[in-house]
Amino acid sequence: MSTFAKPVSGVSPSHRTGTSGSVPSTMRALVKHHAGVGLQFVNDRAVPVPGPRDVLIRVLKAGICGTDRHIWEWDAWAAGRIPVGIVTGHEFVGIIEKVGTAVTRCTVGQRVSAEGHITAGVDFNSRTGNAHIASDTRILGIDRDGIFAEYVTVPEENVWPLHDKIPDKVAAVMDPLGNAVHTVMAAGVSAKSVLITGTGIIGLMAVTVAKAAGAGRIFTTDMDARRRELSKKLGAAEAFDPRSNDWIADVRKSCRGEGVDVLLEMSGSPAAYDQGFSALRNGGVAALLGIPAKPPTFNITQHVVFKGATVLGINGRKMFETWYQMEELLISGKLELDEIITHEFPLEEFEKAHATMISGEGIKVVMSIADR
Ligand code: ZN
Repeated sequence: MSTFAKPVSGVSPSHRTGTSGSVPSTMRALVKHHAGVGLQFVNDRAVPVPGPRDVLIRVLKAGICGTDRHIWEWDAWAAGRIPVGIVTGHEFVGIIEKVGTAVTRCTVGQRVSAEGHITAGVDFNSRTGNAHIASDTRILGIDRDGIFAEYVTVPEENVWPLHDKIPDKVAAVMDPLGNAVHTVMAAGVSAKSVLITGTGIIGLMAVTVAKAAGAGRIFTTDMDARRRELSKKLGAAEAFDPRSNDWIADVRKSCRGEGVDVLLEMSGSPAAYDQGFSALRNGGVAALLGIPAKPPTFNITQHVVFKGATVLGINGRKMFETWYQMEELLISGKLELDEIITHEFPLEEFEKAHATMISGEGIKVVMSIADR
């Protein structure tokens, strides 16, 4: 069976249960060991035991997310949310090493990633196609042990078997890429002018996704000159420093004097909300992914009501529509991700890896945990 084919029930029982036979009892892992800055490297963490409906995955590579930065720095959000003692991390690629007794679709040896939002599938949203906003969501590396470790368990339903054409490095960052795909596809960008405010990791991914999805002109903003340049390389027609005076007037002028059709807000900056909506035409669509540090002051009357704007809140990835869209975009070869994934470090160099990400020197930083 090619790895592209989704696993189906009916494969021989010998492939459905059991293990590859070489799973140790302890493993290397990064643990949030105290209520403060940093993570601790341990080599004696117990390897998790999969439940009947879970698979045990040997992690090959892991992406460091903005969320992991909050956890590293132990800001107010992390202090209020993260249980001390947890293994962190949620973006990964790995190989299935063991499957639970009730698992029917996954097989030992499959190369996979997984959706990190885990729900019981019983609340209103889970049952109506919106499991990404389920009320009982528990997230890998946030609410339960994550993937900065040699092994992780994940429910079979969350596993995403990988197409051969998707390299490990890219498969390790399908979680944030899915955020970008979800935002772009929810807003609808085909033949439309698009403004992306904030070109961090997901904003840059959104540039290449929007281009692949048939956007017209793409405009971006970022305070960092290197990221502005990269966004142009990835397909932006123009990239503005949001501190420059006339950029909003310039964008509006170049769009019939009315403004862009679509705003994708990726920064969480209060100024970007104000600027982004000022650049949006009347009747435009705004998809908001960025998360402000505190509730921003925002002129709803001017920017939403009188503008007749459609505003979409974007959270996670649609399960699993976004994953199918992302897979197709990746197989098509239309996404340019090489220059976004800038650094790779072995797990043992996790301090350097996090520092590279936090300083902004690295855009997407990946840690390699094991070879295939
Ligand atoms: Zn992430």
